This record gives sequence, structure tokens and C-alpha cells, in this order.
Amino acid sequence: MLRTHADVLVIGAGVAGSAAAMHLAELGAGSVVVVDPDLAGIRSSSERNAGGVRATWWQRVNIELCAASIAFLRAHGSEVGFRPLGYLWLYGPQLWDRAAGHVALQRALGQEIELLAPAELGDSWPEIDRLDGIAGATFSPMDGLVNANAVKELYRRRARAAGARFLDRRLVVGVERDGARARGVRLRALGDEAQALASLAGVPVEGEPEFIECGQLVNAAGPWAASVAELIGTPVPCRAVRRQVSTFRCRDVDLSRYGMIVDTTGCYFHHEGGDLILAGYSPVGDPSGYRFDYDGRAFFESEIWPRLAARMSGMDRLQYEGGWAGLYELSPDNSALVGRVQGSANVYEVHSFSGRGVMQSYAAGRALAELMVHGRFDTIDASALAGARFAAGTLQLEELHI
Ligand SMILES: Cc1cc2nc3c(=O)[nH]c(=O)nc-3n(C[C@H](O)[C@H](O)[C@H](O)COP(=O)(O)OP(=O)(O)OC[C@H]3O[C@@H](n4cnc5c(N)ncnc54)[C@H](O)[C@@H]3O)c2cc1C
Repeated sequence: MLRTHADVLVIGAGVAGSAAAMHLAELGAGSVVVVDPDLAGIRSSSERNAGGVRATWWQRVNIELCAASIAFLRAHGSEVGFRPLGYLWLYGPQLWDRAAGHVALQRALGQEIELLAPAELGDSWPEIDRLDGIAGATFSPMDGLVNANAVKELYRRRARAAGARFLDRRLVVGVERDGARARGVRLRALGDEAQALASLAGVPVEGEPEFIECGQLVNAAGPWAASVAELIGTPVPCRAVRRQVSTFRCRDVDLSRYGMIVDTTGCYFHHEGGDLILAGYSPVGDPSGYRFDYDGRAFFESEIWPRLAARMSGMDRLQYEGGWAGLYELSPDNSALVGRVQGSANVYEVHSFSGRGVMQSYAAGRALAELMVHGRFDTIDASALAGARFAAGTLQLEELHI
């Protein structure tokens, strides 16, 4: 059996694991190794998201992590395809007062937010001509859209340049502990992509056994973080839920000068590139588990189209193109877990971003690396995201969740 050593072993090479590896290597954590059954990330959330980045959250820690990450993405705009086109969010009467009530905190933390009455929408978004159910709107011009794959590749390039290694076709299947310390992980070296994808759908797979001894261990396994936490021996109350998005063409509406638009119904959409528009919606009751089947035209026709047509007359006629399903990694309060795993001396976690992983990845990775290398948060305080909060009752609840 192949045996090797890493000062830091990161499980999972999505945006979270790649960002953590970059910061760890750049902060001098020693030898950093990242393992993943599929570095291409075919089933990872980092390849299946909508690419929106915004800082208009309700909890201070989420605003701060997003703001710091967006500042980085903006500074590397040409590399990550950052489109600083803002977020327009339309609210119904049930949420409007509460959403407007959080604007003071967002502004105090440096965010520009405009509050809009329904009648004002036509000045800048004339396509939104069906105003039923809109009580108010916010526009946050500092937010935007990115190419999440390019973000991940940027992190990986920098991580590699600082000495980190990424090992493909490696599935973690066990964690060896000495009391509160993780000694290392047992892996299976997988043969091909089919095996890797099957393993991520929960199918047991064979492969050459390997062991990597480690000084510190990071769970960055995204929607699979709960399974990895079980292997570590410290379960987390997180779960994976299927989310679907569709793409389509619309001859009568050009959204290319706008960023993300979120309807009162929770349906979100933006210009995807070329003549395509992307739209997503999260029906109540989407199944938990590792499901990647996309419901196709039926999803588009029942969940997307009626909501868009109810908002814009130009969307009465659409041409369906396609779509896909990916996984949200939900925690009980819809906020990520970042920090040292409770009860462990050398195990850390950065996962369960609950649909916010791209927009928080840079800052969450930085905060974790500071904690692991320096023993404290130096530039970004992510202490509110410690997993211990669920037992302590200090939840970081995000209700505006799409
Ligand atoms: C439809 C959809 C739309 C979204 N829209 C947005 C958006 O607009 N903006 C935004 O910020 N976020 C969005 N998200 C969420 C975002 O994509 C995720 O929060 C983010 O990608 C999580 O990154 P991650 O690295 O934690 O997880 P992942 O990218 O899933 O990476 C986890 C990795 O762990 C690996 N792994 C799993 N098990 C093991 C194991 N046993 N051993 C080794 N490796 C393992 C997997 O192979 C995978 O590569 C969206 C998600 C979806 C599904």
C-alpha cells in the first residue's frame, strides 16, 4: 500500500478546498496536498452553479466574507470573468420590510444599496413591466457575476505555484485517529472517471488502497462534507439538496446589460452569454441526497417560464435550450461551517456554504488558513461560523435564500 505524508491534507478540490489550499500554501503551512476523486469537478457544485456574487446578506459574517471575496474577484476581474452588473432583488409584501431593515447593516459594512419603489423599476429595467406582487426592490451595484470555473482554476494555479499538490482520482474512505488527533486518511486510488462519478453518487467502488499521514486535516468536501465528517467521527447536521437551472433564448428581451435579477417568487435569472439566459428556481421539497438528474423541459415549463412571463411581457415567448442539476450543501441556518472541528485537535472544516460558496470562497479560505497557520483569525473574523454554534444556539440564520 502506498503511504505518504502531508503537513496539511485537504479533502475536496472545489472552490472551497482550492481556495483553502492556496492560502495555506501561501501562508507557509508546509506541504499541502488536496485529494479529490474528480479534479475536473463534473459533479461538484463549483461546476454547476449560477456564478452570482453578492454581499447583501442579513448576517454580518456573511456580508463580510462576501465583500472580501468580491473585492478579490473584482481585482482579478479579467481572469475570472467578473461582470460588475449588480443584483436587482424584487420583494413581495411579506419580505420587503424585513429586507429593507437589513440595508442599514449592509451599508455600514460598505455596501452600496439602492431602495426602489415598484414604479421606479421601469426607469432602469423597462423589461420588468408586470409589477403584480412587488412591494419594493433593492439594487446592489457592487455585486455581479463570475465564471466560477475560472475562479477555481485561479486558486489552483496560485496554490500550485506556492507548492500545493492536487491528487486526482483519490477518494477518502476512512480517517485514522489517535484520540482527538487525526493521524491520516485512508484512500482509494480510482481507475477512471466512471468510477469517480459513481463514488460521488454513493456507489461503493474498489481501488488501490493508499494512506496519507497528515499533520492537519481539512474537510472541504462540499455537499459530501457530512459523509466525510462521519468518517472523521464528528457528524455535522448538513445535507445535500438537488437544485436545477435551465437555459433558454428570448428574442424579445435583452438582459445583457443587467446582472442577476431575483423575482419575488425566488426565481433568479441572468444573461449567461451569447444569446442564452440562465434561470434557476428551488421548489420546496427538492430531494436530499446525491441526485443529479435534471427534470428537463418539464422543470422549465412548470417552474421557470410561468414566473418569468408573470413578470415580463417580453418573456411570453421563450425558446427552451437545456439545463442541469447540481447540489446545494445546506446547513441548519443556511450559513457555512468554517473553523476547527469541535472536539478535534487538528481537524478543520470549510463547507456547507448553502448556495454561497463561490462568493465566499476567497475569504473563507483565507480565514481558515490564518486559523490553521497562525492560530487566530488575523484579517477576517469567521469565528461566528464555527460548527459549535449549533449546540450553542448562536445561529447565523440566512432567510433570504434562493
Ligand atoms: C444550481 C446551483 C446554483 C448555485 N449558484 C450559486 C451562485 O450563484 N453563487 C454562489 O456563490 N454559489 C452558488 N452555488 C453554490 C456553490 O456552487 C457552492 O456553494 C460551492 O461550489 C461549494 O464549493 P465546495 O468546494 O464547497 O464544494 P464542491 O465544489 O462540490 O467540491 C467538493 C469536492 O469534494 C470532493 N469530494 C467529495 N467526497 C470526497 C471524498 N470522500 N474524498 C475526496 N474528495 C471528495 C468532490 O469530488 C468535490 O470536487 C450554486 C449551487 C448550485 C447547485
